[in-house]
Amino acid sequence: MEFQNYINGTWVKGRRTFQTINPANEELVADIAQAEVSDVAAAVGAATEAFKSWRLVPAPLRGEILYKVGDILKQKKEELAQLLTRDMGKVIAEARGDVQEAIDMAYFMGGEGRRLLGYTAPVEMPNKFGMAVRDPSGVVGLITPWNFPIAVPSWKIFPALVAGNTIIWKPSPETPAISAAFVKVFEEAGLPAGVFNLLLAPGADVGKALVEHPGVRVLSFTGSTTTGRAIAESAARLNKKVSLEMGGKNAIIVMDDANLELVTDATLWAAFGTTGQRCTAASRLIVQKGIANKVKESLAERTKKLRLGDGLDPNVDVGPVINKAALERIHHYVQLGQKEGARVLVGGSIASVHPPESADSVRSSVSKSVDESVHPLQSVGKGFFYNPTLFDGVRPGSTLEAEEVFGPVLSIIEVGSLEEAIEVNNRSQYGLSTSIFTQDVNRAFTAMRDIFTGLVYINHGTTGAEIQFPFGGVRGTGNGHREAGQAALEVFTEWKSIYVDYSGKLQRAQIDNREE
Ligand code: NAD
Repeated sequence: MEFQNYINGTWVKGRRTFQTINPANEELVADIAQAEVSDVAAAVGAATEAFKSWRLVPAPLRGEILYKVGDILKQKKEELAQLLTRDMGKVIAEARGDVQEAIDMAYFMGGEGRRLLGYTAPVEMPNKFGMAVRDPSGVVGLITPWNFPIAVPSWKIFPALVAGNTIIWKPSPETPAISAAFVKVFEEAGLPAGVFNLLLAPGADVGKALVEHPGVRVLSFTGSTTTGRAIAESAARLNKKVSLEMGGKNAIIVMDDANLELVTDATLWAAFGTTGQRCTAASRLIVQKGIANKVKESLAERTKKLRLGDGLDPNVDVGPVINKAALERIHHYVQLGQKEGARVLVGGSIASVHPPESADSVRSSVSKSVDESVHPLQSVGKGFFYNPTLFDGVRPGSTLEAEEVFGPVLSIIEVGSLEEAIEVNNRSQYGLSTSIFTQDVNRAFTAMRDIFTGLVYINHGTTGAEIQFPFGGVRGTGNGHREAGQAALEVFTEWKSIYVDYSGKLQRAQIDNREE
């Protein structure tokens, strides 16, 4: 099966192809037509032409196409979820959730077709009217990561389309198959040619060309902080609006009075869901000393029981990481953590997963640690699996505490008080999501006020944002924009203020012509 680029309403073969591999078994998922840098100009040309008519389609009708996309996504949910799991490895229940985010966003933003609210305000002169309306920005470039290959793009695609923009989307080369399948849904829903273009390519060249093309007015990026900063620097020279959603180093704070069972359930989900490869994954557990030992015992016991394997197997809790490079990076951080004096409580090694042969053996499928002294970075089986890892005694300021590992590694840090916990949380270079477990309403409200991250959860893990609220982070995570909710429209629209003077004479504003 080959997936292709989509330019001006046509599926386009490349001169070359690249491949997408299933990280659970290293089997080929699909050959992918490779976009070239020259395709960027073709896509921008198509999007520029399509913008002329798409911006004039009444917004409620644009919204209706989005509803249709939502309907088709509902029908194809299982098919898309399975392809998504094969493309990047997350367990099937989470893949279904990924598609569901797009369904929710399609209907939410479809509804914006009848709002896209501007406003009027009183004006200074008689017989004069003033209003502020939202204009689409034009051609927008979307660059996205592999970890939420449908959800994250949908936070950008739906608001951009309903506002009347045309799009060029450059998804991650790790998830090209599911990206092309997603675009097919928009084609099926009747989106006009040129409104939504897709470029699939490995490496950075096509993304860079998109960033640097003068015809692209807005860039919306989600991915690593290093890439986001590079994009922002290039785009600034061309006066482009750039929305950045980048890395995280999210923390769960546990107070002595917390509900232990709830903390354990929520922490396992937040730290090891999507194999720790969520931007909102909990990678720090900041725990008050009085409850620390109980939390560690409970977490260690449950972490050991997590089942690794192919995400298509419904009995699997934790899928593979995205690729071999990720496996190596995670293991590097684990070794560094040990060198810096932290102690591995559970995991800490590359895993070998033996594929189940029968339904019965599914339940007994186990992961085995690989002795790193024999196989420093080699997985013995197929696929890229890392044992969910708990680190104890992680010092604030150490590498493990400070840097985004983006894998199933949770660092436990002990603190004495709520104030200290908040201080440790806030001094991270990132600021996406923090949660706190406490049954004390005073502590909860203090935390809500004093935690500086874009998302705060009370008695829930660090993940699980809903699409009707703004999503994004502060400090190293973002640059002041937000996705989702109505806030997303700020990225994809320009305010236009319109004054109508119906007095029939010159009425001068901005001049002091009042008589004393
Ligand atoms: P990445 O930065 O490596 O790649 C992101 C995208 O940028 C890909 O499509 C890639 O091909 C493209 N790209 C790479 N170099 C480029 C360049 N020089 N110019 C233009 N485009 C370029 O990130 P990733 O590994 O795909 O994703 C993981 C990262 O994404 C993690 O850091 C994670 O925290 C972050 N993330 C953040 C959020 C959020 O909302 N804050 C959500 C999901 C993921």
